[in-house]
Amino acid sequence: MSKFWSSMVKRTEPYIPGEQVEQANIVKLNTNENPYPPSPKVTAAIKEEIGRSLQLYPSPTANELRETIGRHYGLSTDEVFVGNGSDEVLAFSFMAFFEPGHPIRFPNVTYSFYPVYAKLFDIPYEEVPLNKDFTLCVDSFFQSHGGVILPNPNAPTSIYAGLEHIEKIVQNNPDQVVIIDEAYIDFATESAAKLIRKYDNVLVIQTTSKSRSLAGLRVGFAMGDPSLINALIRIKDSFNSYTLDRLALVGAKAAFEDVAYFTDTVGKIIATREKTKDSLQNLDFNVLPSQANFVFVSHKTVPAEVLYHELKKEGMLVRYFNKPGIDNYLRITIGTDEQMKQLVKRLSEIIKL
Ligand SMILES: *Cc1c(COP(=O)(O)O)cnc(C)c1O
Repeated sequence: MSKFWSSMVKRTEPYIPGEQVEQANIVKLNTNENPYPPSPKVTAAIKEEIGRSLQLYPSPTANELRETIGRHYGLSTDEVFVGNGSDEVLAFSFMAFFEPGHPIRFPNVTYSFYPVYAKLFDIPYEEVPLNKDFTLCVDSFFQSHGGVILPNPNAPTSIYAGLEHIEKIVQNNPDQVVIIDEAYIDFATESAAKLIRKYDNVLVIQTTSKSRSLAGLRVGFAMGDPSLINALIRIKDSFNSYTLDRLALVGAKAAFEDVAYFTDTVGKIIATREKTKDSLQNLDFNVLPSQANFVFVSHKTVPAEVLYHELKKEGMLVRYFNKPGIDNYLRITIGTDEQMKQLVKRLSEIIKL
């Protein structure tokens, strides 16, 4: 704390990201990155762009990328916003749609960035308890006073709520914005992007970090009614006209154009997830029904914290949250088949100790 800090800095409680290690030989299953590299077409597009015009500012409207994403979802350019990672898109959305004095709602077990943004922008919030089985208590999100934000599938539980539930929440908040954070939707049943032309109060936020292997490029996006997208553009242009650099713009576009590569890698991760789930269940783990690229698990007898430390000793990183209600769970990212075999083997040894 310093006398030079603004009240905004003083009230912040910054998000703590999962450990990033540069060390080789680490099996890194702690931040839900994709184990596969991005499409070769992404690398080619970035290389070509490097040889072109880095001395010039990138497009402030990012129209080409927005159009490409829109086409993927049957939407037009003015229904799509792009930003520097979905974390930035989320931050802009808090500024654009939520207000001090009007409490927003999100689940009590959810992405821990939401309370961080709420504190930063001075927005009060209510944490809505999940049901005992970690599913959403849908009615508790009706008639909010300031808006709703929730991830679907939820993080870190991995549980997906069907579109009929999401639609009910949207319908029952007609005067508020409902933000659906779909960071993991490509590993799940279907996106709420379908609801956008039906309701002007739903904003769907996605990222290229997980399903498109581009966590290092930082490209996220939002889809919604043009009036919502305009609000986000107004915030961006009052903050930084060029949130996406030239490499990110062409790389993300190439990732959306290579549908075959995307379908293949997502399919592989889903198949590995289901195999991993079976293996862990055979070791007496309770595995929540996952529609994400990670599983949320607890063991019948060995505490999650012990498992976390034992795995770490062996160079295997998973995520442990020391928070009431989930402090006996581990969140494990789905890696390659080989990585998951190693993990299961190590876990089977640890629980026999
Ligand atoms: C990973 C994640 C994000 C952030 O994604 P970036 O685009 O990399 O900033 C947002 N929301 C949830 C729920 C996530 O898990």
